[in-house]
Amino acid sequence: MSKRVRETAIGIDLGTTYSCVAAWFDQHNRVEIIPNHQGNRITPSCVAWNGTRLLVGEAAKNQITRNPRNTAFDVKRLMGSRFSDSSVKKDIESWPFKVIEGNEQKPMIVFEHNSVKKVFSPEEISSLILRDLKVAAEAYLGTKVTNAVITVPAYFSDKQRQATKDAGTLAGLNVMRLINEPTSAAIAYGLDKSADINRPKEKTVLIFDMGGGTFDVSLLNIRQDGTIAVKSVDGDTHLGGEDFDKLMVNHCVQEFKRKEGKDLSVNAREMMRLKIACEKAKRDLSSTPQTPIEIDCLYEGTDFTTKFSRAKFEELNAGFFSMCIKHVENCLRDGKVRKKDVDDVVIVGGSTRIPKVQKMLTEFFNGKPLCRSINADEAVAYGAAVLAANLSGNGNVKVQDLVLSDVTPHSLGIWVRTIDMINLVSVLIPRNTPTPCIKTNVFTTICDNQTSVNISVYEGEGRTINENIFLDKFILSGIPPAPAYQEKIKVCFNLDANGILFVSAESISSGSNNSIRIERSGRSRKESKAVDIYQSVISIEEMDEEVLN
Ligand code: AMP
Repeated sequence: MSKRVRETAIGIDLGTTYSCVAAWFDQHNRVEIIPNHQGNRITPSCVAWNGTRLLVGEAAKNQITRNPRNTAFDVKRLMGSRFSDSSVKKDIESWPFKVIEGNEQKPMIVFEHNSVKKVFSPEEISSLILRDLKVAAEAYLGTKVTNAVITVPAYFSDKQRQATKDAGTLAGLNVMRLINEPTSAAIAYGLDKSADINRPKEKTVLIFDMGGGTFDVSLLNIRQDGTIAVKSVDGDTHLGGEDFDKLMVNHCVQEFKRKEGKDLSVNAREMMRLKIACEKAKRDLSSTPQTPIEIDCLYEGTDFTTKFSRAKFEELNAGFFSMCIKHVENCLRDGKVRKKDVDDVVIVGGSTRIPKVQKMLTEFFNGKPLCRSINADEAVAYGAAVLAANLSGNGNVKVQDLVLSDVTPHSLGIWVRTIDMINLVSVLIPRNTPTPCIKTNVFTTICDNQTSVNISVYEGEGRTINENIFLDKFILSGIPPAPAYQEKIKVCFNLDANGILFVSAESISSGSNNSIRIERSGRSRKESKAVDIYQSVISIEEMDEEVLN
């Protein structure tokens, strides 16, 4: 047999708090998690500037209490977001590092040492983490690495996906594919179970993925032949362990104020020390009912000592925990699966170690034991490495047999006006539609002698354009002048397996047409705020729809 010469491609789980890289190893016929420069299998998603050098990963995290204002973490929560987003505003308030508004409302991270400023976009910070993982992989593999599969939360929007791919490109990677984190975990789970000779031909599996900053639920069919078909996804891109830490920190700040009459929240360094202690206490509470938090000289020479109970932790975060179950219900409803028909509930992500999360989930599934056979911290990178091997033609038969079909997490549509002039989004591809797919709809002009239409593409679940995210637009001209509502325009959305959306529009009577390619991983232009009434269309009827296989 000839020896493979194909380049090794890596799988990267770019997490909010930790990241992980893995690759398929022909010599060992399996995926291996690649240790970082310090020998650890997961790397803190942290970047710092100490005035001389940029520090990444462990090096950045290790100096965070000394240099909190110049250490960025949780930056995944800024990817593809706008400075004005309420979730961004809330996060900024709790972070010691500075975030300012950049061009096109982009949040920008500012480091400052002795009046020297360095400004980074979230993509640039993420690219430094990706580059660090790339370098670690190159050292471990002994070869140059350019190709990678990067994971993203299933519930990430188009813009968040674009930002992730841009970060990969900035890191010098060729991003072969972005894969949803729960789908990636499902690959790891599917491979883990493939050796089981008693496994059924097809299984319905729910992946519950709760990490540091994001939460995803995904319902999938896993078949014996290696096919993994996602039925539905749901989740929250701003819900995870960091939120639980924040509530613990706030609780301790209040307690300190009550006991000592001092407000320590004004001091970034001390807040960071408290955050680290709370995160550690949170982890301890997963295995003990009560844990002490003891910090010497926390603020103005005063020590802080308290006991934190698991019951208190659960009470503080009860709202977040019940939100998780709501997302599970939504996912089952959208996937049209009853909870009793779910064969396995698989938990991944560090926050699924929280006993209350496990208890709620088990109770919701009427006492069903949760599947914990795959590594909560590494499964996502593992699955990405399998897909990377599959795409680059490496790996064994099981890897090459892998067939994935995903769904679109958010609805996709175009701007239309109603007869009473309300700007709405007419959805062509509803969320959770299997991809690839083609959907067509016919619209009419809205004004007398309207010869062009503005096809503006939106993503989201809101009814009006303001409640959705604008993706891109184009003009279709050459419509013959006619009375309002007479001329018909056929609009076609074609979403391929890579999440690339092609939108085309055609004037039915004149045949004139135009189209646009909206790459979920490319850049979309800024929306022009002035919408021209004469260029809007009105939705009239549902046409044919078709799902490609
Ligand atoms: P991930 O994004 O999957 O790496 O998960 C990281 C999150 O999991 C962080 O918020 C951690 O604090 C949290 N985490 C890790 N281990 C535990 C544990 N034993 N109990 C509670 N939370 C944990």
